[in-house]
Amino acid sequence: MPRIAYVNGRYTPHIGAGVHIEDRGFQFADGVYEVISICNGQFIDIELHLDRLDRSLFELEIPWPTTRRAFSVILREVVQRNRVKNGSVYLQVTRGSSDRDFAYPENLSPSLIIYARKTLRDTVETASVGYKVISKPDIRWKRCDIKTVSLLPAVMAKQAAVRNGAIEAWLVNEQGMITEGTSSNAWIVTLDKKLITRPIDNSILSGVTRQTVLNLAQKLGLNSIERAFSLVEAKEAKEAFCTSSTALVKPIVEIDREKIGDGRVGPVTKVLIENYLRHMENPT
Ligand code: PMP
Repeated sequence: MPRIAYVNGRYTPHIGAGVHIEDRGFQFADGVYEVISICNGQFIDIELHLDRLDRSLFELEIPWPTTRRAFSVILREVVQRNRVKNGSVYLQVTRGSSDRDFAYPENLSPSLIIYARKTLRDTVETASVGYKVISKPDIRWKRCDIKTVSLLPAVMAKQAAVRNGAIEAWLVNEQGMITEGTSSNAWIVTLDKKLITRPIDNSILSGVTRQTVLNLAQKLGLNSIERAFSLVEAKEAKEAFCTSSTALVKPIVEIDREKIGDGRVGPVTKVLIENYLRHMENPT
């Protein structure tokens, strides 16, 4: 079955789908995106993703390409046309196309592309494998709260991670504190079982999965604290994990080749994986 993408008002074969060479997303990374997970044919936390999209667009003064309602309809249509039961949908809104110039005409029509892809659904077993991360200096800009397609520092750090047999790079700021992963939020569990993740500010993306995990932790009676933590503290933590819409809750058992805790997936992380997978079955 051929994959179908949505590009600027048209459903078109994924294989030849493209935007104009002067699309500002292509030339200036002048655009924003979202990735939403699909489980059993249902979007996970779609309204939170659309809220964040709304904020990213607002911050960059890009208008919505359609109404929010129409947007949801197109998202569902793309998923249905591609018969995706489990996987994710990628959407990108750019400022639009115009003659190349750093400044832009105020009345540009934004571009919208959407496509979906299938992935295997995680089970508690497949999700409970321990992964390695490496640390890298955080060389990104000062507005990481906006989900822009300007991702080159993240691309470079992730590639370094993959070359080192790791799944993610945790980014470290000039104060030695971990901000987040290249495409995920970072968490540790302290020796006294407190869940720690960095508070929301301009240095990180406000992850939808991060928020869901904070809510789950509260329901489970786990003590969670939003505060910055350092690379040194992370290496001495009892457990570590990262969260994102595609990685879900991923246990981390090594940072820079140093074991975290006993080097195995810890009990707090396991409980969160189980509960997050349950949340995916019954998203609210
Ligand atoms: N931080 C960054 C830099 C990301 O790219 C992502 C994934 N988009 C996240 C955190 C996690 O966000 P979410 O849980 O909404 O996928």
